Amino acid sequence: METKKISKILIANRGEIALRIIRACKELGIKSVVVFSESDLNGVWVRKADECYPILGDPVAAYLDYERIISLAKKAECDAIHPGYGFLSESAEFAQACIDNGIIFIGPKPEHVALFGDKMASKVAMREVGVPMLPGTDEPIDNIGDAEKIAADIGFPVIIKAAFGGGGRGMRIVEKASDFKEMYESATKEAQRFFGRGEVFIEKYLKNPRHIEIQIVADKYGNVVHLGERDCSIQRRHQKVIEIAPSPRLSEKVRRELYRVSTKAMFKLGYESVGTIEYLVDAEDNFYFIEMNTRVQVEHPVTEAISGIDLIQRMIQIAEGDPLKFLQEEIKFRGYAIEFRINAENPKLNFVPSPGLITNYLSPGGPGVRLDSMAYTNYQIPSNYDSMIGKLIVSGLTWEDTVRKAQRALDEFLIEGVPTNIPLHRQIVRDQDFIDGKLDTGYLDTKLNTFNLEAIHNMDDEEAKMKQIQGIINVIKANNLNVRH
Ligand code: ADP
Repeated sequence: METKKISKILIANRGEIALRIIRACKELGIKSVVVFSESDLNGVWVRKADECYPILGDPVAAYLDYERIISLAKKAECDAIHPGYGFLSESAEFAQACIDNGIIFIGPKPEHVALFGDKMASKVAMREVGVPMLPGTDEPIDNIGDAEKIAADIGFPVIIKAAFGGGGRGMRIVEKASDFKEMYESATKEAQRFFGRGEVFIEKYLKNPRHIEIQIVADKYGNVVHLGERDCSIQRRHQKVIEIAPSPRLSEKVRRELYRVSTKAMFKLGYESVGTIEYLVDAEDNFYFIEMNTRVQVEHPVTEAISGIDLIQRMIQIAEGDPLKFLQEEIKFRGYAIEFRINAENPKLNFVPSPGLITNYLSPGGPGVRLDSMAYTNYQIPSNYDSMIGKLIVSGLTWEDTVRKAQRALDEFLIEGVPTNIPLHRQIVRDQDFIDGKLDTGYLDTKLNTFNLEAIHNMDDEEAKMKQIQGIINVIKANNLNVRH
C-alpha cells in the first residue's frame, strides 16, 4: 500500500467550489492555494486561501490554462491539485499532465476521465459490466443517411446528443421523422461550435422520466461503496435546479438494484475516487444509464447531509492512498436533504443571467441549514462565468420537516441589487406536487407558467418592520435621546 500525505493543494477552480475545497483543506490541516483571474479579484475564496496567484488575461482561459496552473503549483510547492467541477475537472490530458509533473491529481485515473468523457465509449463499457441502456447507438454518427435510418429503427421520439459534449449543448429532441434532418443538422453544428467535434449519437427519448444518480466512493484497493442516490429531476432546459437525497419517490426494490448495479460496475472497471452514475427512471421503474461524471458534483452536499461523510475530504484521502475507512454496512443514511441552486438570473425575463453588484445580502441560518456561497454585500458578480452564486442546502429528519425548513430558509434569504431565482424556489417548495414528491424532468416546464414569480413571501412584512425601526431611530435622533443598552 503506497500512501503519500498531501500537505498543500492547489485549487484549479473558483467560486463556491473553491471555497468548499478550502474548507476541507483547513479541516484536514492542509494548506490551500488558489489561482484566480482578473475578474475574480473580489472573490471571497481568494481571501480565504492560504496563498493566491493571479492568472492575467482572458478570465475564462485563466482557469483552463493548465500548463500555467501546473507551473504555479510547482512554484508554490503544492503536492496535489484539486480540479473541482467544470473547467479542467474532466480533462484526461490535465490529469495526466499533473501526474507527469509529479503532482497528485485529486480525482480518478486519467484513463477513466477519458473513458467517461466520451459518452459513447462509456455506454459500451458500462453495458459490458451489466448496466442497462436505452435503445440507441454506440457509434458516433457523422452522416444524415445513417442517422435517419437509426432514428427510424429506434422509433420516435428520439434524442440527439453530442458525443463529446455536456450541459445540454448539441442536444435535440425529435418527435417525428419529418423534423429529423433539420434537428440533426443543428445538433451537429452546435456540437462542433461548443466542443470542436460534431459527432452525435441517438437514443430513445423518454417522456418525463426521473433523473436519479448514484454517488460512488472507491479507493485504490478495490473497495467500492455507494452513498445512496440523489433525485435531480427538477430541471430547466435539462439543467439541474434542485437536488434531493434520498429520492422522495423511488421504490425500495429499484433503489437496491441501482445500488447493486452501480457498485458492481465501478468495481469491475477498477474505478477510484468519487464519481456519479446518472440514470433515467421511467414511469414503470425501469432505469437506464445516461452518463458517468468523474468528479465531485455540484449537488454533493445533499449526500453529505444524509450520510455524514465529507466527500471532498474523502477524495483527498483516497488520492493520498488511504484505504476506505468504512464498509457499506457501516454507512447509515439519516433524513432528507434538498439543495437549491442560487443563480443570479431573472426568472421574470426567461432566466436571463443577471450579473452585477449585490447591494444587500442577508443569509439564512438556523437548524438544518447549510450555505455554500461566494456571495456577500457589495460583491460584484462577474459576467464571465455561469450564473450560480451559491447553494442553499436544508436537511431534516423527515421529508415534511425538510420541506418546512426549506420554506423558512428561502424566506429568510435576502439578496438585493441583482435578480435571483430565489422567488422561483419559494414557489416550488409551496407547490403541492413538490410537497407530495411528485417529481419528474417535466415538472418545472409544466409548473413555470402557473407560478407567480412576483410573489416574494415575507418581504412585505420585513419592509414594514424596517420602516418601523427607521421611524424609531428618527425619533431618537430628533429628540437627541440617549438609548440605554
Ligand atoms: P448533459 O451531459 O448535456 O447534461 P445528460 O445526458 O446528462 O446531458 O442529460 C441531461 C438531462 O437531459 C437528463 O437529466 C434528462 O432530463 C434529459 N435527457 C437526457 N437523455 C434523455 C432521454 N433519453 N430521454 C429523456 N430525457 C433525457
